[in-house]
Amino acid sequence: MAFRNYFESQELVFLSFELIRSGLLLPNAYLSKKIEFIKGIGPARSELLEKELGMKKLEDLLMDFPIRYQDRTSISSIAQAKSGNFDWVQLKAVIRDYRIIGRKHPKRLVALATDESGSLELVWFKSHDWIIKQLVKGEEYIINGKLTKFRNSFNIAHPELELAREKKTKVSGNLIPIYRSTEKLTKRGLDTKGRGKIMKGVVAGMSRDDFWEYLPDYLIDKFKFSSIYDTIRNVHFPESQRDLKIAENRIIFEEFFFLQLRLIKQYLNKKKQIKGIVFPEVGDLFLEFFNDHLPFSLTGAQERVLKEIRRDLGSGVQMNRLLQGDVGSGKTIVAFMTVLLARDNGYQSCLMAPTEILAQQHFESISELAKDMRFRVALLTGSVKGSQRKELLRMLRLGAIDLVIGTHALIEDKVIFDNLGLSIIDEQHRFGVAQRAKLWQKGKELPPHVLIMSATPIPRTLHMTTYGDLDVSVIDELPPGRKPVKTLHKTEYFRPDVIKFMKKQIAEGRQIYIVYPLIEESENMDLEDLNNGYEKLMTFLPRPDYQIGVVHGRMKPEEKEKEMQRFSAGTTHILVSTTVIEVGVNVPNASVMIIENANRFGLSQLHQLRGRVGRGANQSYCILMTGNKLSEEAKVRLNTMVRTTDGFEVAEVDLALRGPGNIQGLEQSGKLVFKKADLIEHKNILKISREVAREILDEDPELLAPEHRGIRKYLETRHKKAALWSRIS
Ligand code: ADP
Ligand code: MG
Repeated sequence: MAFRNYFESQELVFLSFELIRSGLLLPNAYLSKKIEFIKGIGPARSELLEKELGMKKLEDLLMDFPIRYQDRTSISSIAQAKSGNFDWVQLKAVIRDYRIIGRKHPKRLVALATDESGSLELVWFKSHDWIIKQLVKGEEYIINGKLTKFRNSFNIAHPELELAREKKTKVSGNLIPIYRSTEKLTKRGLDTKGRGKIMKGVVAGMSRDDFWEYLPDYLIDKFKFSSIYDTIRNVHFPESQRDLKIAENRIIFEEFFFLQLRLIKQYLNKKKQIKGIVFPEVGDLFLEFFNDHLPFSLTGAQERVLKEIRRDLGSGVQMNRLLQGDVGSGKTIVAFMTVLLARDNGYQSCLMAPTEILAQQHFESISELAKDMRFRVALLTGSVKGSQRKELLRMLRLGAIDLVIGTHALIEDKVIFDNLGLSIIDEQHRFGVAQRAKLWQKGKELPPHVLIMSATPIPRTLHMTTYGDLDVSVIDELPPGRKPVKTLHKTEYFRPDVIKFMKKQIAEGRQIYIVYPLIEESENMDLEDLNNGYEKLMTFLPRPDYQIGVVHGRMKPEEKEKEMQRFSAGTTHILVSTTVIEVGVNVPNASVMIIENANRFGLSQLHQLRGRVGRGANQSYCILMTGNKLSEEAKVRLNTMVRTTDGFEVAEVDLALRGPGNIQGLEQSGKLVFKKADLIEHKNILKISREVAREILDEDPELLAPEHRGIRKYLETRHKKAALWSRIS
């Protein structure tokens, strides 16, 4: 299933990425110097650097930070080195002995080095004569190198050696930067060593005047940042871990800070620019529904969200609100009441769902809610055809329909409203901004208000970086009496118990989902899994006592629909399916969700699937079936599912496990690659940067104050492309 299209159109994310990549410095003549003219580079190497790493100017060199550092600031004992997790070690040890081993080529020169804590081997595969000349038995050396473990013994291949008594300082040197390189670059002497040498020259030649400090002094003071000059110097050649940390702090802060400044600024601009229809009234229909037809009392969260929406609708600015709530949290009624507000003010609404089944279900539940009122709701999907479709479109154009619910069919040009005031989009990750925009254009003079409903909880940290253009409301409370779904993890061994449990549930009148993973590239295999599973199931749960339906991606939509209907109507006890039921289906009587090969599902998918049950009054169960062998990550996923039903918590773990680039619906935000910042590790800096950005823009929205000149300039030069986004939407 493709979740891809969602963020494809989130230019916001792309743009923020590009600007981050373009760096932290303000351009000037010095930084614009062509790398060709830098000592140690020249025309041939500069061409290669441009081809391989896209480097043209001095600035590009400076902004290509080391990927890591070798720490030569301290000496570890051999025992520490062996037990630690070091990539690179610095030791002080005596060479006891050495000899050449092996008769055939390549021979190895092996030396034994010891200190008080233990011993290890040093190995050379070439240049033996030259090395032996330098080795003195019984002498103490400072040894630097990469520690590797080979068949249970540790060694360092081709270490760097220096006689300890000849060292000027007790500890050898600094943090040595490691630069990225490629095969071609390495061939031309531009491996990390070669690049380091060039950088050493560049950094030594820098002067403070070459850099324009753009951060205001008060921020530098407040957070004890280093100046931009020191930051650049220390990120390349730090003299201590502490210096490095200070430099990195500033870089991380900036990566977040400028992104936040831009997002908030854009958001404020947009608020100013996009006028919205004002819905001043809470009118008759809304009140009638609220007083007479509300089937249950609203939860606190639902009430709060409705208030937020009403505030938007009365503000004169177009609403762009993301309504987040876990599956079953009751988003539909909030949407419906928003529709009533539009209706009371003389406007039509539309509700767009990603699939026919979902559109159908919305149509049914909303028709039910509206059944005792003068309210006209229609369903427009691909299967509404011919004269029926014509009539529906005519009514819509005349304003004789208050709410039209549908699929993508709604954005076709033929769908014309008399007076569209509200667009609701369900399960937003299926729609892109372009589609949203198309719905906007269906408004007459002013764009309709937009409410996007999503059941995919997105961790707050991600919000802060990706949803600059949306206000967010969260329904964080389930309707009362809802029993949290009990989640269990079972291995194959317990299959008989699971079958027994299924029989018991069916005897009590419940229904059961069984889901098999579907992965695009191995669809055939998955289908096989599903078919095998289905056949096995039939032997355990034979007809006619047990009715089992199957739904999978290869079926025709009509067939799928029919199977779903049969399950929905209670004709089938068990629905075996691939993940097609993932989104939105509502069968309150279904109380068991069995997920086969659960280790193959991502966390957010597992959570979505679990949301299919627990919709009725009965205790519901989610059973995660797996084999015995599980990866560590799979274990974390399964344990998280067993531990919590809170979608936001699940989302946080998911984010921590996979990084923002892989979160469902947010794939493209993987483009949001920072140089140093990490959304999870530096959550706090993100938060602070956002607060600071907000304070600054509160006080000085246009950044006109003298102390903000640098920031403004930075945004103007580095964030040019960003302006595009506000225009796109
Ligand atoms: P979702 O947020 O997943 O779209 P729905 O709007 O489909 O959730 O609501 C799930 C179920 O909970 C529906 O059957 C709905 O009628 C019911 N429900 C919603 N709000 C409440 C409430 N405040 N009290 C009781 N039941 C509610
Ligand atoms: Mg829903």
